[in-house]
Parts: sequence; C-alpha cells; structure tokens
Amino acid sequence: MNDNAITSMIDDWIRPEIRDLSAYHVPDSSGLIKLDAMENPYTWPTQLTDNWLASLRDAPLNRYPDPTAKSLKIALRETFSIPDGVELMLGNGSDELIQMIAMAVSAPSRTLLATYPSFSMYRIIATMAGLDYREVPLNVDELDIQRDLMLASIAQHKPAIVFLDYPNNPSGKLFDQETICEIIETAPGLVVVDEAYYSFAKRSFIPQIARYSNLLVLRTLSKMGLAGLRLGFLLGRPDWIEQINKIRLPYNINILAQLSATFALKHYDVFCQQTDKICQDRDNLYREMSVLGGVQVYHSDANFLLFRVTSRSGNEVFEAIRQQGVLIKNLHSDNSVLSDCLRVTVGRADENASFLAALKSAL
Ligand SMILES: *Cc1c(COP(=O)(O)O)cnc(C)c1O
Repeated sequence: MNDNAITSMIDDWIRPEIRDLSAYHVPDSSGLIKLDAMENPYTWPTQLTDNWLASLRDAPLNRYPDPTAKSLKIALRETFSIPDGVELMLGNGSDELIQMIAMAVSAPSRTLLATYPSFSMYRIIATMAGLDYREVPLNVDELDIQRDLMLASIAQHKPAIVFLDYPNNPSGKLFDQETICEIIETAPGLVVVDEAYYSFAKRSFIPQIARYSNLLVLRTLSKMGLAGLRLGFLLGRPDWIEQINKIRLPYNINILAQLSATFALKHYDVFCQQTDKICQDRDNLYREMSVLGGVQVYHSDANFLLFRVTSRSGNEVFEAIRQQGVLIKNLHSDNSVLSDCLRVTVGRADENASFLAALKSAL
C-alpha cells in the first residue's frame, strides 16, 4: 500500500477529532537540568533502596497481579487516613483514572468542563473519549477562578463532569474552597477535585465526600516522588466507584508497582521530608524571583512556580534559559491568559540556583 492510500484510509477510519489532536509532547531533556515536569528531584537513601529491592526479590512475575491490589489499597487508606464510607480505585497514574471517568460518562453532546488554564490532559482525554470540551478562563491578574463565569457556564453547558485541579496546574493557585463548594452544589453531574499536589498544598476535599454525593477526589503518588511508578487513586462514594471500576482493565496496576508503592508508603515520612524541603525551596525561589524586574511571579501552593515575562517575549526567555542548560515549561499562547508565561518546577537547591542565574541573564 502506498502512502497516499494510507492517508486516504486514515481519513476514512480515524475519527476526525483524533486526527486533529496532537499527541502529548515530551521534549528531549538529555544533558539539561530538568525542571519541566513537576518531578521530585530527590532519590532515596541507599539502605532504603536495598530494602526496596529485597521486597521485590520474590515477586511472582509469572503470575498475573492481584486485580484488586488489596494490600496496596490498605496501605493507601492508612497512609492518607481515608475515611470509612469512601471507596477507592487505582489507576496507572491518575491520567488513566481521568480517562476512565471520561469514558464512563461519554455520549454524544455531553460536556467536560474545566478552567483555562488547567491540566492539559483534561482536554486531550475529553477529546479522545468523544466529549465536548469547554473551558472557563481564570482571571489574568491572579489566575484565580471566576466564580460567576464558572456558574454561568455550568448552567449553560450542563457538563457531565467538571474537573478542578486543586491547586491548579499550571498556576499553583489553590482555588477558594467556598467557590468550589458552590460549583459542586450547582453542577448537574460529577465534579472531580484533582489533588495531584496534595503533598505540597496539604488541603483536601476528601472530608467533603460525605457531604456531596456528586464529588470525586483524585490523587496521585507521582508528584510526591514516585512519578516513575504510575499510581493514581480515585476516591468517592462506593456507588460511583463501582460504576467507573467497570471501565478499568483487570490488571492495570502491575505487580512491581503494587509491591513498590506498598513498600514506599511504609516510608512515607521520607517523602514528607523531601516535599517539605521542596516547599521551603519554592518559597525561597519565589522571594528571589519576585525582586527581579521584568517578571511577574505567581504565588504557588504546589512544587512549581508560574511566572509571566513582562520585558521580553516568553518564547525568547524560554529559549535563552534552555541555551544555558535548564529545561522549564513554555506555556505561552498568543492572546491568552498565559501569554508570555513560563513554569519552573522546584528542584534541588543547586538546580534552582542554576535556573535563577539563567533567568537573570535571559532577562
Ligand atoms: C501531573 C498531574 C496529573 C497526572 O498525574 P499522574 O498520576 O502522573 O498521571 C494529574 N493532575 C494534575 C493536575 C497534574 O498536574
């Protein structure tokens, strides 16, 4: 078959919204200081690594993993004090859970609503799942949620799901709790509060699950330091979880992830020390950036800082920083809330210093 024939078959058979999608782009970071993906920069003490490897020694790789991941769920319940009456299910990263929720509700002319900006996978997954995607802009000054606009948009589009990242990625803003409660009360369908940055913000809507029957809470172990494991978990009333669980493929959490996560949670204090250090370094970096001319830096409750370049173009500053060996995230988009905005993940102190030096010289 020649290339033209393939192109024509693709046009015939791949859904138009998928053809229009660009695949999630992960830039090449080789040789660069990597401050683009909200990863925890710290590794484990040697003794801990040795004990972890010992815990994997006898993993029965020839067998399918426990499809319900019972031990891991118990460890999650204990570590994060999940109340009775709240059910949980696991995903291969919280990305997979977002996809399962979207697939469970998707039908023609149904809507997934989120803020702009918000986590980019909401839009990609909504499109994949065949949902109509709507976004409500944050305000430019503080990148905060616009209550009236949100409520009006919910009334207009009657979304099957509203996704709210709490704190927001990429702004780092922890939206007002009262406003979120109003959204949950107004929404005709599900509201998912995505707490990917819980380790840094330490604020949660889990206690509200008892109060609101349409609320789901999403968590992940990625940002606290286990991004490579791919483990997310979804919390909600048992009746909702029972339905969404039907979409889950039987063995989505492999045995190495189950054993490794269970091991890691026994040493949760190690991660807490690391995330506390990251919060301190974030506040230091915020102070150092806010005295620079030519940038406006936003307050953050997560492990990254968003800043707007005011003296040059964001694209130029991003490039100049990369030329100096530091990879951050370019979020610039013309005529949008994010014009000339860049996002830096908080790394180790030496990495943050390299970034700051590169930024100063780029400005
Ligand atoms: C990083 C991120 C996720 C995805 O986390 P994984 O568990 O690694 O898939 C989900 N939501 C938000 C808001 C994020 O920033």
